[in-house]
Amino acid sequence: MDKIKMITPLVEMDGDEMTRVLWQWIKEILIQPFVDLKTEYYDLGLKERDNTDDKVTVDSAIATKKYGVAVKCATITPNAQRVEEYSLKKMYKSPNGTIRAMLDGTVFRAPILVDGITPYIPTWKKPIVIARHAYGDIYKAVDGKATKGKAELVFTDENGNKTIKTVHEFDGDGVVMAMHNTDKSIASFARACFNYALDMRLPLWFSTKDTISKIYDGNFKKIFSDIYENEYKEKFEKVGIEYMYTLIDDVVARIVRSEGGIVWACKNYDGDVMSDMVATAYGSLAMMTSVLVSPDGVYEYEAAHGTVTRHYYKYIKGEETSTNPVATIFAWSGALRKRGELDNLPELVDFANRLEKATISTIEEGEMTGDLVGLFKKDGVTPKKLNSKDFLKAIAKRI
Ligand code: NAP
Ligand code: MG
Repeated sequence: MDKIKMITPLVEMDGDEMTRVLWQWIKEILIQPFVDLKTEYYDLGLKERDNTDDKVTVDSAIATKKYGVAVKCATITPNAQRVEEYSLKKMYKSPNGTIRAMLDGTVFRAPILVDGITPYIPTWKKPIVIARHAYGDIYKAVDGKATKGKAELVFTDENGNKTIKTVHEFDGDGVVMAMHNTDKSIASFARACFNYALDMRLPLWFSTKDTISKIYDGNFKKIFSDIYENEYKEKFEKVGIEYMYTLIDDVVARIVRSEGGIVWACKNYDGDVMSDMVATAYGSLAMMTSVLVSPDGVYEYEAAHGTVTRHYYKYIKGEETSTNPVATIFAWSGALRKRGELDNLPELVDFANRLEKATISTIEEGEMTGDLVGLFKKDGVTPKKLNSKDFLKAIAKRI
């Protein structure tokens, strides 16, 4: 059989721990036998980030801007314990944070639904897609410790005029933080959400806390509303979907009561937290896909979960693990499909679809990783737990 040819390379961002192990197996077992895989490889494993003073992360984001499509493995965001474990020169920032800030995008997280796995909220019949603004707020904040004294927020305009606001008069120790966002980034976040909702024919809900954060969150609300009225209202009405703005607390309650089938646009922090809740409620963190879409049409695909450290420590002791590779497989299929669409390679698009179908039917026919076994209930099918490699081989058989 001739392998499927590619034209433009994918930007491949390798990562850490258990997902780094799965990464290699996915390529060997599921992709390379069928596709003449072309990638430009960046090793974002923590050791290499340390060796290059994190330049490799920046380089991989630059390459993503150049080629347009990247696929990323989960990576460690170092904390104090990791600095010691890996003898790091410093506590590097989150690679995802660095990449998001450079691409200024929106992250869409959608669960992979499988017949046989009922969400913890059984009324959720359709996917809830979280659209996370991936720029600014606390992820680009400046914070520090305070002692007895006064914290002020100073803004200097381009003519040197200063506006000073008192944040707090401290009579003892405390903490302060200042954060920002830009109208440009908020507007591209809004357009990315409106476009995605239109593409998927799903209603869009957007939430902030503008009753408390009147200027900051109020600005988000206004930009969304203006763009909707001027550019999207007619299109939404034409396909019969709604745009709704409401408070974050209200939307949390509505989401729980809904049957899904919604795109929920969240500010950066809300999206970070809520996507983990939604993913878990759909069954497993390992069944959540994630794609970063930049305003100039650059795509970076990844799994929503982390490097699955606990499984990795077992793996290095020589034990078998049943770590779920599904979200990482869907990162690859998403990236290959997009590459196929952009380069006009229908065979590559078709392969990506087959790979996803084979993955889902493997589970639906009862072969799955340990995390799913306890969740799976389907008449006439007894779920069987496979280790990661055997699960990948079971998928390969079906491609
Ligand atoms: P995690 O790697 O997502 O794992 C948390 C737990 O969720 C696991 O211990 C496991 O539960 C379960 N789980 C997650 N993915 C799974 C999978 N594919 N198959 C089976 N079970 C899975 O999160 P973490 O332990 O908080 O973080 C570990 C490292 O990942 C950290 O260094 C963090 O910085 C990094 N991280 C990276 C990203 C990213 O690159 N996008 C995102 C989040 C975290 P059991 O142990 O109960 O089996
Ligand atoms: Mg999170």
